[in-house]
Amino acid sequence: MNNLLQTPIEYLKGVGPARGELLRKELGIFKYQDLINFYPSRYIDRTRYYKINELQNSNTEVQVVGKIINIKTVEQKNGKRLVATFADDTGQMELVWFQGQKWIRENLKLNLPYVIFGKTTSFGGIFNMAHPELEPLTEHEQSLRSAMQPVYPSTEKLTQRGVSNRVINKMMQQLFMETQALFVETLPQYLIEELKLIPKNAALFNIHFPKSSDILAKAQFRLKFEELFFIQLQLITKNLVHKHKIKGHVFDKVGENFTNFYNHHLPFDLTNAQKRVLKEIRNDMGNPAQMNRMLQGDVGSGKTIVALMSMLLAKDNGFQSCLMAPTEILANQHFIGLTELAKDLNITIKILTGSVKTAERKIIHEALENGSLDILIGTHALLEDKVQFQNLGLAIIDEQHRFGVEQRSKLWKKNDIPPHVLVMTATPIPRTLAMSLYGDLDISVIDELPPGRKPIQTVHRFDSNRLKVWKFIADEIAKGRQIYIVYPLIQESEKMDYKDLMDGYESLSRDFPLPKYAISIVHGKMKPADKDAEMKRFSQGKTNIMVATTVIEVGVNIPNASVMIIESAERFGLSQLHQLRGRVGRGAEQSYCILMTSQKLSADSKIRMETMVRTNDGFEIAEVDLKLRGPGDIMGTQQSGVLNLQIADIVRDKDILLLARNYAVRLLKDDAQMIKPEHQAMRNVFIEMTKKKNIWNYIS
Ligand code: ADP
Ligand code: MG
Repeated sequence: MNNLLQTPIEYLKGVGPARGELLRKELGIFKYQDLINFYPSRYIDRTRYYKINELQNSNTEVQVVGKIINIKTVEQKNGKRLVATFADDTGQMELVWFQGQKWIRENLKLNLPYVIFGKTTSFGGIFNMAHPELEPLTEHEQSLRSAMQPVYPSTEKLTQRGVSNRVINKMMQQLFMETQALFVETLPQYLIEELKLIPKNAALFNIHFPKSSDILAKAQFRLKFEELFFIQLQLITKNLVHKHKIKGHVFDKVGENFTNFYNHHLPFDLTNAQKRVLKEIRNDMGNPAQMNRMLQGDVGSGKTIVALMSMLLAKDNGFQSCLMAPTEILANQHFIGLTELAKDLNITIKILTGSVKTAERKIIHEALENGSLDILIGTHALLEDKVQFQNLGLAIIDEQHRFGVEQRSKLWKKNDIPPHVLVMTATPIPRTLAMSLYGDLDISVIDELPPGRKPIQTVHRFDSNRLKVWKFIADEIAKGRQIYIVYPLIQESEKMDYKDLMDGYESLSRDFPLPKYAISIVHGKMKPADKDAEMKRFSQGKTNIMVATTVIEVGVNIPNASVMIIESAERFGLSQLHQLRGRVGRGAEQSYCILMTSQKLSADSKIRMETMVRTNDGFEIAEVDLKLRGPGDIMGTQQSGVLNLQIADIVRDKDILLLARNYAVRLLKDDAQMIKPEHQAMRNVFIEMTKKKNIWNYIS
């Protein structure tokens, strides 16, 4: 590391203690190095000259060459303004001043070529520019400034205290003079050549002082690649270390239960995707390292049977396993489903949730400790201290995003050698995001639905078409189908939301009256027992319609329900809409999803509705979601720190991320310790980064 770069920022000429303090507080710039890495958020292209007939109402700065052909003062109610007519060979526009009119009037020359620069707006078909920067063309041609001008992120305080963009720019010039732009190359030479990257020095110089958009693009590419590359090195190394250091139980027996189930009791043929992920899981668990794997698969892709077969492997190797679900409803459903699947096997399965009675609890605790219980299914209740396994070998967590990291680690503190961990999620995470966030986790994807499923048909209807929708419901019920109607429930507007739900329920009850129809209702304010009872009535087909809040979002499996109506669909996020839709389409019948919204929709809401109507592919939907909301929002603020990248953007720079990932994998395969001489400089940076205890320590 270059020592000069560790110099406190106030020592830079032109900074001093007061500005130093400001830079630290407002921008987190402490040292020379931090200033170097303070990158412009955008650039103004002063290499391009616009013609007046090319101007657009786009609120960006442009520059135009032309002459002032007329200048006049216009009186207004609230003061005077100075208006000049500016013309080139394609048309005319107006320049406007509200202040400093006298000086302008005295100094401006008519019919002399000027370069003007500023934002244009259009008013009554005529473009105008208020308070333009202007410079005679002859002077402009001699100045050095005609290049891409960087614009740095700023804050109100900085602007107030006179640390303008120009001041930052000057500091940057000073910095490059003092350090003579001697920055150490960090990437191996062969990589630079292979990828045709520009050297570190040139990249840093041109990110701050680009002479053309071409060289700027090269500088950006190089720095983005470097940033993403080092993150990937960290993540992949962590994964490798994990595999070497964290011991795991070795499940090397292809046991009796697994084989028996596979050969005689599979209720259907596994899809190729299911077979593939099972192989990946078996491989992992057959090694003496702890498995730390995420299983992604869209709703209905068949994760449950993969979970069961993994647990059978544990059993065959003499271990217990558990499956933890986020809600009681879901835990129950898993319990029922798995018990049914395993009914011909010699396996004991129990369920432990908040509502399990003390007596039964005792039995479960005992059976767990003496090893007579093979599989325990449950909710958070599994995490209680009283729950002690004799030998937990595999922990499966369904719908991971609902459990915090701490909770997960609680599970694996229960034994000396941690159990293998399989996290199942139906929320597809775009590959790029998964790579940046979970690069240290292995990922299996079920990207294929079981055969014979009819794709769900999705339509978008405005509230004004409700009558037609109701008619459609009546027809489906007449065919023996069941209907979900879901209302949004947001904490902030809870009261209003409940009112909407109850109003909706009442009007439905009028339109679909007893005794011909029966309607169930489930919402968060009901007691768990009442909720379960209502769910049961619906799943047993005793009611035709289920009115609910998002309680039913996760996992519920009622194959006869073929219509999902989502009220105020514009208020749901894309992933939630997709999850809700996944409640239908589980039987042999054609299923439908109807998105009800008001007429007025924001641009984003429109995109969400269009996306839902267009595709059933969870990954595609997740990509759109990522673009709309940005990575921080998707993963929650808690994890967004991971994505505080200095220059790269994992949405926009997806291709660079993939490239960086591939190169990082290749490099570590070749030299995992980074001890080859050509990796020396890189290793130094890597060690510095690791020392900083970076962001990626939060998972597993
Ligand atoms: P999810 O991935 O959403 O948890 P499930 O495991 O609940 O999906 O499976 C959804 C439905 O598909 C279940 O009814 C299950 O029995 C069925 N299923 C799973 N795999 C297959 C398959 N390979 N062939 C046919 N049906 C399958
Ligand atoms: Mg499931």
